[in-house]
Amino acid sequence: MSKVRVRYAPSPTGPLHIGGARSALFNWLFARHFGGTMLVRIEDTDLERSTREAEELILDSLRWLGIDWDEGIDVGGDHGPYRQQERLALYKPYTQKLLESGHAYECYCTEEELEAERQELKARGELPRYLGKCRNLTAQEKEKYIAEGRKPVIRFRVPDGKKIVVDDLVRGKVEFDSDGIGDFVLVKSNGLPTYNFAVVLDDALMEITHVIRGDEHLSNTPRQLLIYQALALPQPQFAHVSLILGEDRSKMSKRHGATSVLQYREDGYLPEALINFLVLLGWSPEGEQEIFSVDELIEQFSLERVSKSPAVFDMNKLKWMNAHYLKALPLADLTHLCLPHLEKAGLITKETAETDLPWLEAAVDAVREKMEYAAQAPELMRVFFGDTVLLDKDNEEVKQTLSLNTTKQVISALQQRAGELTSWDSATVRKLLKEIGKEIGVKGKALFMAARIAVTGQSHGPDLNSVLTLIGPKRAALRAKSVLDQL
Ligand code: GLU
Repeated sequence: MSKVRVRYAPSPTGPLHIGGARSALFNWLFARHFGGTMLVRIEDTDLERSTREAEELILDSLRWLGIDWDEGIDVGGDHGPYRQQERLALYKPYTQKLLESGHAYECYCTEEELEAERQELKARGELPRYLGKCRNLTAQEKEKYIAEGRKPVIRFRVPDGKKIVVDDLVRGKVEFDSDGIGDFVLVKSNGLPTYNFAVVLDDALMEITHVIRGDEHLSNTPRQLLIYQALALPQPQFAHVSLILGEDRSKMSKRHGATSVLQYREDGYLPEALINFLVLLGWSPEGEQEIFSVDELIEQFSLERVSKSPAVFDMNKLKWMNAHYLKALPLADLTHLCLPHLEKAGLITKETAETDLPWLEAAVDAVREKMEYAAQAPELMRVFFGDTVLLDKDNEEVKQTLSLNTTKQVISALQQRAGELTSWDSATVRKLLKEIGKEIGVKGKALFMAARIAVTGQSHGPDLNSVLTLIGPKRAALRAKSVLDQL
């Protein structure tokens, strides 16, 4: 294979979404597998919708995922510029060439005329497309239009009755009929190229060898092939990766889970987990293995194992995978990931995050088994904060425990004895509970559930010993008192 050059070519119209991240990832893995070049090109010819903020957000998300590139707006390269708006002068000679060879022509139709044509075709039950009214304008006709103040677009003259075959590395041979295409626009009336035109010129000039992108672009590919042929430009190989669907098999949308990569970052997902999850949306390894390091992915990734059937976005699998990576994280790192969430929830401040760090680490450790993503930290750890608790009186298990006449005794004893203690660790806690049980003559569930209710107000939560150890004697006594007050 000639030296692989691939690109990820986002339109900077919003944050990086899951589908885009997967395209970037597949390109990147492919490039790294073959020791090739990965470039990022910004496709910003849609002036109304493109912003520099979106551009930054996309690049930031890619960096966060650990996807890097060898050529691009920030790192440079000798095939630049890498922003389409800065390449307009490069496109001009090709437009000229197509006009001169008759592969393109100026079209002066107004939006109203085009709309009328679309409606007419629709009424006849035909595919709406441009039928070529301006294909053979005379010089006089053109002058008349210009005198009326009309600004032309430049259209590609699609040959009639031709089969166009996209030989796709994932989809195989896909045939298109040129008659269904209609003469499409290459250059808009504002002088800017359309996506189909710019993408071909850029891919050719940037010497891209493989175009790996989402399935939604497959229908654009015959148009692009026509341009390659008309300009006698070398064609890259295409690989169209299937759509990502939600669990109900409709196109992935916000209903199925966050679609923006940044949202996952904010929710406390790890980039390694997201990469591992994304790669399996379309690519399948040879064996049963599901957890892959990035190095393993680079070694094993191939387009041959990219499926042409749609991938289903399984949120629970992503959570499971993230939980797996969170478990492997050193406690200090995991705690660090949880701190902003605890702060946002008002459970800690910037200061207490520093002064109480060892305690916070222990608290994170007590819930890490249950944590799927770091934004769950406040919900899982709330039980360790506060001097009072709210008694969950509606809970069946709480009700049942409260109906035992030993329960109140346990709570009172806990309040009193904890209040007397000064040193406190897991062993003291165990001993204390044992003594209370002995004194009142209660053990097992009746004892432990009563103690749990005394310090949490609830029937469930993290391991009782961890809760007691973490909240300490003073807080245990205060909480028990608050529960007694609610009885
Ligand atoms: N700018 C296009 C998009 O964001 C890229 C399509 C392509 O990769 O050719 O969908």
